[in-house]
Amino acid sequence: MKLVKTVAELRKEIALAKRQGLSIGLVPTMGALHAGHASLIEAAAKENDFVVVSVFVNPTQFAPNEDLDAYPRTLAADCVLAEAKGAAVVFAPSPKEMYPSADMTWVEVTGNVTKVLCGRSRPIHFRGVTTVVSKLFNLAQPDRAYFGQKDAQQVEVLKRMVKDLFFPLELRVMPIIREADGLARSSRNTYLSEKEHDAALVLNKSLREAEAAFAAGERDAAKIVAMVTAAIEKEPAAEIDYVELHGLPELTPAVSPLKGTNLLAVAVKFGTTRLIDNVVLEEK
Ligand code: AMP
Repeated sequence: MKLVKTVAELRKEIALAKRQGLSIGLVPTMGALHAGHASLIEAAAKENDFVVVSVFVNPTQFAPNEDLDAYPRTLAADCVLAEAKGAAVVFAPSPKEMYPSADMTWVEVTGNVTKVLCGRSRPIHFRGVTTVVSKLFNLAQPDRAYFGQKDAQQVEVLKRMVKDLFFPLELRVMPIIREADGLARSSRNTYLSEKEHDAALVLNKSLREAEAAFAAGERDAAKIVAMVTAAIEKEPAAEIDYVELHGLPELTPAVSPLKGTNLLAVAVKFGTTRLIDNVVLEEK
């Protein structure tokens, strides 16, 4: 496994792999790798000859009041995990390498898909994500790129970007990996105190209850949202950012009675830590 830090070095590695006719899998991450990231890297290694894992805490997707400086950075451990899961290259550029000039080109997806959910509470977030992912796509030229359903809205935004900009690649979406107690794995879980971690279990629990209600025939979107909201509000340490139901794909407004495929998504703060989680409700 090679650790490369510059655009020029990455380009060299990619050119070499392409000359050998190798298929390329890309796994974009912000590092502090955990079992969720590991599942993406494993999938990429299974489906491609040459796997690139990017580790970059992307400043343009953080607002000034967010946790850019505090975000955990564990590059040495990330390299060990990436290698063990089958990565050929870890690309860990500096912010200056990815954004050499203050004047820059943005890639921005407009419309409902970036306006609802996290788009409302983090208005500049997705523009930062689509800009950095475009750069990574152009550099790594992957046949397949791997993302987690944990960030369900990000997946919808990126699907639109890939379609609109004709990126010649397949977007692969992997299921949410959880801790044994049900909490979705996240690099931000390291911020949680033990008490906050226990409180945060309400997210998975309330989503499972909603899933069970849907399976039992509940099709009223407002009732499902109210049920999850009430369950989370019972937890004193939880401060709700949103509990929302939207149609998939593209996060159109959910219409009752619910039909097709819908996304029930939550964002909730525990202390200073904002966590997200979701479940897809669809008829089996
Ligand atoms: P991040 O480093 O948090 O930006 O995440 C990098 C990629 O890993 C994104 O595509 C995430 O959706 C994915 N990911 C993060 N946590 C999980 C998880 N618990 N299960 C599956 N994928 C995840």
